[in-house]
Amino acid sequence: MISGSGRCFYHPDRAGLGICVECRNVICVECTTQFEGINRCAKCLAARLSQAKKIVARTEWGVGNLLLMVLSIGFLFGSVWALAAMFSS
Ligand SMILES: [Zn+2]
Ligand SMILES: [Zn+2]
Repeated sequence: MISGSGRCFYHPDRAGLGICVECRNVICVECTTQFEGINRCAKCLAARLSQAKKIVARTEWGVGNLLLMVLSIGFLFGSVWALAAMFSS
């Protein structure tokens, strides 16, 4: 018999309902959080959310803005070039 099975990892007096996909602990209805349709305990969800926030912030300021900046500069230079070519001919 596996110790702790069927009982919430955080509340030993409560019946376990699901298993957290991150830490594999049995969790009760109060500890179960559904995020993106996946069961996680409150602790793992908090960790996941802070991690996701960091990734979003990094992507926004890193790749997204850089790409947008490069594209707009390229577009600007392209239009200037096209105009110059149009007027010089
Ligand atoms: Zn967990
Ligand atoms: Zn619980």
